[in-house]
Amino acid sequence: MDGKADLHLHSTFSDGALSPRELLDRARQAGLTAISITDHDHTGALDEATTIAAPLGIEVIPGVELSTMVGESDVHILGYFFDHHDARLQEYLALFRSERRKRAERIVRKLNGMNVPLTIDGVLRRAGGGSVGRPHIATALVEEGLIGTYQEAFSRYIGFGKPAYEKKYMISPREAIAMIAAAGGLSFIAHPSSFMEEQVLLDIIDAGIDGIEVIHPSHSPELAAHYRGIVSEYFLLASGGSDFHGGKRNDLDAFGRYTISMAEVNMMRRRLRQAPRG
Ligand code: AMP
Ligand code: ZN
Ligand code: FE
Ligand code: FE
Repeated sequence: MDGKADLHLHSTFSDGALSPRELLDRARQAGLTAISITDHDHTGALDEATTIAAPLGIEVIPGVELSTMVGESDVHILGYFFDHHDARLQEYLALFRSERRKRAERIVRKLNGMNVPLTIDGVLRRAGGGSVGRPHIATALVEEGLIGTYQEAFSRYIGFGKPAYEKKYMISPREAIAMIAAAGGLSFIAHPSSFMEEQVLLDIIDAGIDGIEVIHPSHSPELAAHYRGIVSEYFLLASGGSDFHGGKRNDLDAFGRYTISMAEVNMMRRRLRQAPRG
C-alpha cells in the first residue's frame, strides 16, 4: 500500500496556528494520503476536516492528544480511530478543557501578583474558543509587550518550577487508555523522546497501550530505531507525525517530513478488527 500519513497535527482548536482547512491544504501540497488532527483535549476539528478532505481524496483519522501524569512527569497519550461523537469521551474532554481554563485563571492571578498585568480575556482570545494552554499565555505575554520572547515567558514565569507555574488537571496513562478504548480507539505514547525512563515506558505498556509514536521531530534516527525495537518486542504498533503547530515553533518546514506509511496505518486498522474496543 502506497502513501504517507502524518498522524500528529494541531489546529486552532488547540494550540496550532492553522485551521483544519489550512492543514488540509498543506496535506494536499505534501501529497499525504492520510492525516490525523490531534488537538489537546479537543476533537472539534475532526468533522470539518473530514468534510474538506473527502473531495481531496485524503483520509482524516480521528485523533486527540491527552496529558497524563506519571510521578512528576507529563506523559502525552495520542488516541486514534475512536468514535469522536462518543458522549462519555466528550464529557471527559469538556472536563479537561474547563480545568485548563481554571488553571489559566490561576496562572494569570499569579502573574498579576507579580505585577504582570495580563488579563484572562487576553489569554482566552488567543485560544479562540479552543483548549487553552500555556502556549496561549506565552503568546499573550509577548504580544502585549510584557515579556521579550515566547521562550522567556516559560523560563521566567510559566515553565515547570517557575513562579507562575500551575499544574494541569491530569489523569493516569491507564485512565487515558481506558477512555480511548471505551470510545473504540487505539492509544499511543506520544513522543517518548530520550527523557522517558525505561520503567515508565514498560509500566505504560503494561497498562495496555497499543503503540508508540516512533517518528517525531524530537527523535533522532537512532532513537526512532530504538522505539521500533520496543514496538516489535512487545507486539505494539508504530505511529508517527510532525506534531505540527503551524509555525508557532519554527516548525513550518516540518510538515510532510515526519510520516509513517499507509501500511502502518493499515496495521492499526487490522489490530482494531482483531481486537475491537468499546
Ligand atoms: P500546557 O498543556 O498548557 O501545559 O502547555 C504545554 C505546552 O507548552 C507544551 O506542549 C509546549 O508547547 C509548551 N511548553 C512547555 N514547557 C515549555 C518550555 N520550557 N519552553 C517552551 N515551551 C514549553
Ligand atoms: Zn500542542
Ligand atoms: Fe505532546
Ligand atoms: Fe502534540
